[in-house]
Amino acid sequence: MNRIYLDHAATTAVRPEVLEAMLPYFTEKYGNPSSVYSLGREARRALDEARATVADLLGADEREIVFTGGGSEADNLAIKGVAFANRHKGNHIITSAVEHHAVLDTMHFLERNGFRITVLPVDSYGMVDPNQVAEALTDDTILVSIMHANNEVGTIQPIEEIGRILAEKKVYFHTDAVQTAGILPINVAELHCDLLSLSAHKFYGPKGVGALYVKRGTKIEPHIHGGAQERKRRAGTENVAGIVGLAKAFALAQGEIETSAAKLTALRDRLWDGIAARIDHVRFNGHPTQRLPNNVNVCFSFIEGEALLLNLDMHGIAASSGSACTSGSLEPSHVLVAMGVPPEIAHGSLRLTLGRENTEEEIDTVLDVLVEVVAKLRDMSPLYEETPSKPLP
Ligand SMILES: *Cc1c(COP(=O)(O)O)cnc(C)c1O
Repeated sequence: MNRIYLDHAATTAVRPEVLEAMLPYFTEKYGNPSSVYSLGREARRALDEARATVADLLGADEREIVFTGGGSEADNLAIKGVAFANRHKGNHIITSAVEHHAVLDTMHFLERNGFRITVLPVDSYGMVDPNQVAEALTDDTILVSIMHANNEVGTIQPIEEIGRILAEKKVYFHTDAVQTAGILPINVAELHCDLLSLSAHKFYGPKGVGALYVKRGTKIEPHIHGGAQERKRRAGTENVAGIVGLAKAFALAQGEIETSAAKLTALRDRLWDGIAARIDHVRFNGHPTQRLPNNVNVCFSFIEGEALLLNLDMHGIAASSGSACTSGSLEPSHVLVAMGVPPEIAHGSLRLTLGRENTEEEIDTVLDVLVEVVAKLRDMSPLYEETPSKPLP
């Protein structure tokens, strides 16, 4: 049985070119970048080059890039870092209801530590309203964190507009760009952000390495103390191989953005149109146009997302459900709930995220399997028999 991987928003495979670039830094080039002898200087050079590459791709300066242990750490460093370094200016922080847990849970931590957090609602497409950001600002607001695009439903937020408002008000602006890096062009000046997170394993790089852009002049408190690495913003011997892999993967992805977006959009539309034509009682989630080119999020009423995932897995198809990621809990996705999707429908959500190796044939296979599996599960559902023609709310 062929395996079909449609969970690229969760993670991606390391590209061979990326692995090849990384390998020497595990073996013959194993120096510590802080060492003065040539082995160390060789590692330092690789680190400097990777930093220059990432800075260049973001339209930033090398000194503005902090390498981290992944996207979650970048989010934590941005939010706690700004919060604790700017407490004397105020204690109010604004975010949205659809952020990744790396942002939301960090906000909850800060709330328990005396900060005031405003969580903005979203519309039925999962979109934040820039006017509501402006209205939520107070004299005490020190930071706003709104993601670039949502990892569950793919909605792209109006980051430029929010950024312009905040730049004018001189409030720090962080955006989690983990889902857009490698998929959309990202320029920190155009986005008007002060901090931006990315993660290598979402764009065919290794897991456990990420980067945070920190605009010059932005005060952040480090959360890992120790050595003077990363300009004292993140102590610890650098993950040289991982960082080399991140830079290589990011450069490859950004270099292919136009062709990959066209390909992903075509596959996405094939999948979307196929589901719409062949399965009834479905509800597509996220914005119809302002969305990532590789994301389809759909609810099938009368069935559970978990059951759907297990059945797809039996056919070799890897996908994700909003309710699945919170390890067996049957809480519906906080993103879908924030968008006003009724919980009983949110339970039947399926996220299919496409990647560079998916093909039209795979999409057609997935459609055939989905039609079969959805019909089978609905046949077993008492709700479906009772209300077969009930329209979706
Ligand atoms: C995956 C993801 C993260 C976490 O990144 P890790 O590198 O896995 O820690 C954060 N934000 C978003 C939007 C993500 O999709």
